[in-house]
Amino acid sequence: MVDVIASARAEGRTLLTEAESKELLHGAGIPVTRARVAKKAKEAVEYAEEMGYPIVLKIVSSDIAHKSDVGGVAVGIDSAKALRTAFKTMMERVSAAAPGARIDGISVQQQAKQGTEVIVGATTDPQFGPVMMFGLGGVFVEVLKDVAFRVVPLEPRDARQMVREIRGFPILEGVRGGEAADLDALESLILKVSDFVAQHPEIAELDLNPVFAYGKGALAVDARVVLAEAKS
Ligand code: ADP
Ligand code: MG
Repeated sequence: MVDVIASARAEGRTLLTEAESKELLHGAGIPVTRARVAKKAKEAVEYAEEMGYPIVLKIVSSDIAHKSDVGGVAVGIDSAKALRTAFKTMMERVSAAAPGARIDGISVQQQAKQGTEVIVGATTDPQFGPVMMFGLGGVFVEVLKDVAFRVVPLEPRDARQMVREIRGFPILEGVRGGEAADLDALESLILKVSDFVAQHPEIAELDLNPVFAYGKGALAVDARVVLAEAKS
């Protein structure tokens, strides 16, 4: 667990890859789709066969924070043939879109069933220290800034209030026939992330974007951990 952070430090990086971030989070009991990094398409096919199709491929690079911006995410891959094609085209697309970026490979992960997209994050406030953030995914966060914040460490009551105070809360309650989200699972995930950042002061930023909220359970399908600049 400490290894991931130590190896990033040793390389002078502050951005952990998605696969590294998920290893850390998994170790802390936070539900994530785990990702295995493949250097070659053949290796990716082996991982996919073990996991079972459909799978998702994503670029692995500590120089790239937003993978889809550079064509680095491919979902719905349902065969070895589709995987090999997607692997090759992803490498080409990303090299063209992010020239000079260090590419460690492509990660293979199980494709999660679609849920309601929410975001769970942590940032560091210069005055308050670590602060947790919660909101609904997509336009709700990006355009409407409909998010709730609480200073770490959170009490169960804080997590309860956070999920309820966003304006989009009716969506989580299952407005207009939509499935109601498992609020207990979301609150538990938020609390685990709060404990995790409280225990790791070297983490400056953490983003689970998105987390899929289900009728039962919740699962982070993307994760990004940023370390604080090393003290020199
Ligand atoms: P980015 O670095 O661009 O944020 P993401 O890992 O969030 O990349 O992937 C982009 C989108 O692809 C996600 O918002 C989600 O809708 C979908 N996605 C990513 N991983 C999975 C997965 N394991 N299962 C299902 N959908 C996924
Ligand atoms: Mg994402």
